[in-house]
Amino acid sequence: MEIFWVIVALVGVALIAAAIIIARSNRQLPPAPGPEAIEGPEPAEAPEPASKPPAEAEPKAETEVEPEPSVPAVDVPEAPKSRFARLRRRLASSNNALARALGSLLSVDRIDEETWDDFEATLISSDLGVGPTTELTEALRKELSIDGVSDPGRAREVLRSELLRLVDPSMDRSLKLDSPEGQPAVVMVVGVNGTGKTTTVGKLARVLVAEDKTVLLGAADTFRAAAAEQLATWGERVGVETVRGDEGADPASVAFDAVAKGSEIGVDVVLVDTAGRLHTKVGLMDELGKVKRVIEKKAPVGEVLLVLDATTGQNGMTQARIFAEVVDVTGIVLTKLDGSAKGGIVVQVQRELGVPVKLIGLGEGVDDLAPFDPEGFVAGILGE
Ligand code: GDP
Repeated sequence: MEIFWVIVALVGVALIAAAIIIARSNRQLPPAPGPEAIEGPEPAEAPEPASKPPAEAEPKAETEVEPEPSVPAVDVPEAPKSRFARLRRRLASSNNALARALGSLLSVDRIDEETWDDFEATLISSDLGVGPTTELTEALRKELSIDGVSDPGRAREVLRSELLRLVDPSMDRSLKLDSPEGQPAVVMVVGVNGTGKTTTVGKLARVLVAEDKTVLLGAADTFRAAAAEQLATWGERVGVETVRGDEGADPASVAFDAVAKGSEIGVDVVLVDTAGRLHTKVGLMDELGKVKRVIEKKAPVGEVLLVLDATTGQNGMTQARIFAEVVDVTGIVLTKLDGSAKGGIVVQVQRELGVPVKLIGLGEGVDDLAPFDPEGFVAGILGE
C-alpha cells in the first residue's frame, strides 16, 4: 500500500512540474513567424511618405499663392518716344533696297549710263515712285564724277539728305486730338481688311494710354465676326472699354453709340474701327461717308487714318487712291514695314495723297507701332 501512495505522489509531482514547464515555455515563445512578420518592413517604410515634403510644402504653397491677386490687371504700354529707336533696326533688315542700290553704285570702277539705269531701276523697285527716283538720281549724278566715284562718303550724305527731303520732315505728323469743350476727339480708322486696321486701332489705344489719355473704342467693323472681339481684347489689356454692336449691325449706329458714350463718360479720345470691304467704290463711299456723317451729329471727326499694308506696294497705292477719293484722309498708317516692304512707299504715298505718314507698324508686338520719325526712318533704310 505504501508503494501505491509513493507512486501517486510522484505522478502528482511530475504532473505539476510538467504544467509549470508548459506554462513557462508558452510565455517565452517569440511570436510565431507568420505573414505579419514577413510584411514587417512595410510599417518601417510607411513613415517615409508621411515624412515627405507635402506636409511642409503645403503651407509654403499657401504663402506663395496669396500675393498673386495683387498683380496689376492691365499692361503699362511703352512710351511712344522710345519706340522708333527700338524698332529702327527692323527697317534695315527689310527695306535697305536703297542702301543696296547706293552700295552697288559706289562699288563699280566706272559709273556709266548702264550703272545709272540699274540704280534707277532699283529705286523704282523700292516703291519710291518715278518722280522721286528721277530727283534722287539727278542729285547723285551731280555729286559723282562721270569717271567714277569722287567721294563715297559725300555720295552717302547726298543720298541721306535727298531722301530726307523726299520724306519731308516739315509735314505735321501729330494726331489732331483737340476737340470742342465737353466732346471727345474722334479718330476714324479706315482701310482694306487684312492691312492690320483692327490691330492698329488696338496699338493706337496703347499709344494714347501711354500718353495718359482716356480712350474708348468703337467696334464699327461689324462685318467681320471676330473684329469686335479682337478689339475688345486689345482694349481690356490697357483698361479701355469697347462699344460694340451685334454682328451685322449698322456700323454707323455702333460708331454713333461709341462717340455718344465717349461724350457721356468724358473720355479724351474715341477710336472708331471701320469695315474695309472694298467691294465697290460707291459702296465704300456710302458706308464710310455715312459713318462719318452720323458720328458728326455728336462730335467732329478730327482724324481719318488710312491703314496701308506696306508690303503690298502698288496694290496699296491703288487702295490709297480710292480711299482718298471717298473719304477725307488726314493721315497714313503704314503697317508691316518690318516685313518684305520696301520703304520707298512712304515717299510715294505722301506725294500722291499730300497727306503725311503719321504712324508706322514695325511688328506684331503690342507696342510695335511708332510715331513716324523722318530722320530715324532714313537712317533705318540706309542700314545705319
Ligand atoms: P484688319 O483685317 O485690317 O483689321 O487686320 P488685322 O488687324 O486683323 O491684322 C491682320 C494681320 O496683320 C494680323 O496678323 C496682324 O498681327 C498683322 N499685322 C498688323 N500690323 C502689323 C505690322 O506692323 N507688322 C507685322 N509683321 N504684322 C502686322
